[in-house]
Amino acid sequence: MTKTCGRCRKELPRTAEFFHRKGNGFAHICKECRKIVHREHYEKNKEDYIRNKNERRDALKEEVNKLKSDPCHYCNNSYPAACMDFHHEDDNKEGSVADMVKRGSGTDSVMREILKCKLTCCLCHRIITSYGKDFLEEYLKRV
Ligand SMILES: [Zn+2]
Ligand SMILES: [Zn+2]
Repeated sequence: MTKTCGRCRKELPRTAEFFHRKGNGFAHICKECRKIVHREHYEKNKEDYIRNKNERRDALKEEVNKLKSDPCHYCNNSYPAACMDFHHEDDNKEGSVADMVKRGSGTDSVMREILKCKLTCCLCHRIITSYGKDFLEEYLKRV
């Protein structure tokens, strides 16, 4: 007895070697085709997953960049988003905001982290991390 596969149209022996059992009979497509269908399904899901993840990350990046349009907390200057950082003034850092955005972390956790930070221009940020906040405040008084 043979059975024609509903996908590849091959005529195969109607046995459990070629078709998965289904109820009292056999599946509609052969085992080989089942494997291929599964793989295609998996690949497609994977693509969707990656695309969704990228879209989420882009949206998050845009959200964060909007917040970066405010002036620097220390020197009060405004710069393009690329020059603005989130600085953890207190020692309560769970992660760098920039890294979290890059990783595509959840919006909630990124926003929570941002709330702990001061928006800092890259110049002030560099001075703070190199010389400390007191040095920066002294420096800003002089310029
Ligand atoms: Zn087949
Ligand atoms: Zn600044």
